[in-house]
Amino acid sequence: MVTLVRIGIPRALLYYHYFPLWETFWRNLGVEIEVSPPTNKQILDLGVEAAVPEACLPVKVYYGHILTLAQKVDYLFVPRLISSQKGTYICPKFMGLPDMLKHCGYNIPAIIAPTLNARHGKKAWERSHLQAAEELGFNRRLTQFAWQQAQRELASYHKELQAGRTPVDILYQRQPPKPTSRHTLLLLGHPYNIFDEFVSMNLINRLYHRGYQVVTPEMLPPKLVEKEAARLPKHLFWSLGRLLVGTANYYLQEKSIAGIVHVVSFGCGPDSLVGELLERRAKKLAHVPFLLLTLDEHTGEGGLITRLEAFLDMIEWRHVS
Ligand code: SF4
Repeated sequence: MVTLVRIGIPRALLYYHYFPLWETFWRNLGVEIEVSPPTNKQILDLGVEAAVPEACLPVKVYYGHILTLAQKVDYLFVPRLISSQKGTYICPKFMGLPDMLKHCGYNIPAIIAPTLNARHGKKAWERSHLQAAEELGFNRRLTQFAWQQAQRELASYHKELQAGRTPVDILYQRQPPKPTSRHTLLLLGHPYNIFDEFVSMNLINRLYHRGYQVVTPEMLPPKLVEKEAARLPKHLFWSLGRLLVGTANYYLQEKSIAGIVHVVSFGCGPDSLVGELLERRAKKLAHVPFLLLTLDEHTGEGGLITRLEAFLDMIEWRHVS
């Protein structure tokens, strides 16, 4: 008999890629789930205060979400993400997150940390979730059932993404406005930067407001992204970087986009490398305008909007002249 538990899931980092899987898994076990609220100034301030100063903005924001949940739940769900595909790696900050939080010096609940590491085989992600649930007292049959349901939910989430919806359209049940411009923009960036409306300063809605159709890396089938990423002369082993480069290669060759907006975090090692690669490919393959927006906790909204508006005006003038 399992006593009812309440698990906190932070609305940050890879929430935008995996939330349907995690939510369905725990809910099918009868666990109560508390998701932290959308990022706001208070959450950011908490995170900035708690995390080491050298941490990137998304990690600071994650700390803020953790501390927001800390007093409300019995456990915090903080997966240890190492590699989602053989031969590629997620940034080391994800790998160390459960340990960094355990030693953050704040009073936080116990952490549940299943590991995603493709080097351990296809079934390792499943095994590690089942084990985490069994340690809480759930039996094997129930955890297997919950996992199957969760996999189904994730597959249907991917289907919706590939039909052209963004994670926020799906997770917040929104309908994007009908585009009024004939141009499409490719928005590149890690999901926790481009889909967190506070962190990105409402970027997607600003693009919608100007009438653009917006495409993001999540909308392409992973096999296609992988094929396009493999065109690079050297193997790029950052998982999220591969996603961005593969997506850019596809759209640049298709010549269906009028511009690229790339959002990066200040001080992010993988971003600095991938950003350079993307900008060069945008110039080489299609002469497509490229805007790089760098975010940290000091980024002012005014400066970001001015640069974005100027970039969009330039795209429009290009197509008039
Ligand atoms: S990839 Fe960059 S932005 Fe993302 S967690 Fe790592 S350092 Fe931070």
